[in-house]
Amino acid sequence: MFAMKVQCLLWVLLVFAFGRAQADATHIRMARIPDGDISRLKGLPLPAKDDAASRGVFTLIRGTQDGNSGGVSVLTDGKLPRDEDSPKQNFFLFGKGMLLLDLQKVTEVMRISTFSWHPLERAPQVYTVYGNDQGTPDRVEDVTGWRTIARVDTRQKEQDRGGFYAVSIDREKSPLGRYRFLLFKIEPTGRGSANHTFYSEIDVVSSEDRNLTYVVPGENLRLFRFSSKDGTYRFAIDYTDAPELEEWSKQKLAPVVTEWYGKLVGLLPSEGFAPRREIRLLFKDDMGGTPAYAAGGEISMNHRWFVSEQQREAIGCVVHEMTHVVQDYGRGRKHAPGWLTEGIADYTRWFLYEPQTNGARITRRHGDVRYSNSYRVTANFLDWCQRKYNRELVRILNAAARAGQYDEALWKEATGKTVQELGEEWKRELPER
Ligand SMILES: [Zn+2]
Repeated sequence: MFAMKVQCLLWVLLVFAFGRAQADATHIRMARIPDGDISRLKGLPLPAKDDAASRGVFTLIRGTQDGNSGGVSVLTDGKLPRDEDSPKQNFFLFGKGMLLLDLQKVTEVMRISTFSWHPLERAPQVYTVYGNDQGTPDRVEDVTGWRTIARVDTRQKEQDRGGFYAVSIDREKSPLGRYRFLLFKIEPTGRGSANHTFYSEIDVVSSEDRNLTYVVPGENLRLFRFSSKDGTYRFAIDYTDAPELEEWSKQKLAPVVTEWYGKLVGLLPSEGFAPRREIRLLFKDDMGGTPAYAAGGEISMNHRWFVSEQQREAIGCVVHEMTHVVQDYGRGRKHAPGWLTEGIADYTRWFLYEPQTNGARITRRHGDVRYSNSYRVTANFLDWCQRKYNRELVRILNAAARAGQYDEALWKEATGKTVQELGEEWKRELPER
């Protein structure tokens, strides 16, 4: 959390009229909330759930949908994405494109609102919206015959583009027009391939929409909050995307998190180290084949994988990821090798948290293993080194890695042997089976 928050930047970028006889100008109002706290959206309507767009049909008629994007239905589902980087809960293109909205009947359009959310270049909106009261989709290849309703461009200075954006297009006294079809000609926000706006919701409010239901910020969030016994560490499990794991999260996962986060902090100490005090664990549906990962104080958990592994590997996996949170490497210039980082996380998991499972048992039957094979193999090697040479080895390596001072010479200092010599000896002593 930042000490100073920019509340909500609201601006009317353009006030203009299309058509000479229009006395009533079209207003385009825009708001950007840099940290995405939508409860602070002021002066502009929140997304509506039951507007005319939700009764219409969106079709991508030009351009390509990005492979990671959600379907067009997310544009009218009356829900906002869970957070600033939820690709499947947004619709986004790869390149330029045209989205056609068929309102199903000629509609008196009072307002058009568009919402987007992303931490970086995919946040601002650049599009032109056209309307047509007769047209059929096969006539839209070029936009002749379509009336321009508004051109929107919310781009600001390069450095502050991320955040939640709301755009509202309307007129003070009159409707925007009577249309059956709306056409959104969408452009990237820049030249790179990562410049395609994450559109979260598109609303079209008609003169028939009198009592709209609006999104309530946080209404769909399912959070379980808890703390360590002394209150030092605070945790939250976000099971919004995995409601069937609610009981499991509360009964099985939370107790282990509470007990083991503090333990891991104690097991991996170093001078002046201030561990994170707020940890968030959340289930996600868009992680592909990755079971879990940690970034900063946040642990992402693959919903489907956790459902299938809840009685087996799931909790140990979280202990592994919590170790990464505690490791907190990467601040210095000398990075520890990845195999060691993963080896330590699997060491705490397999040898300290769940030694009874023998999950990192390696025998000669495993073939040509190397100490630097990462994960369980390295964990096994670390355990052997600790037992045979130095009970403090993992602590020493961790403290150096955290300080950005990892060096291979540490192995020799701590055990009298090089890591290569230790690796050979460990291999020779692996049990036959
Ligand atoms: Zn890992």
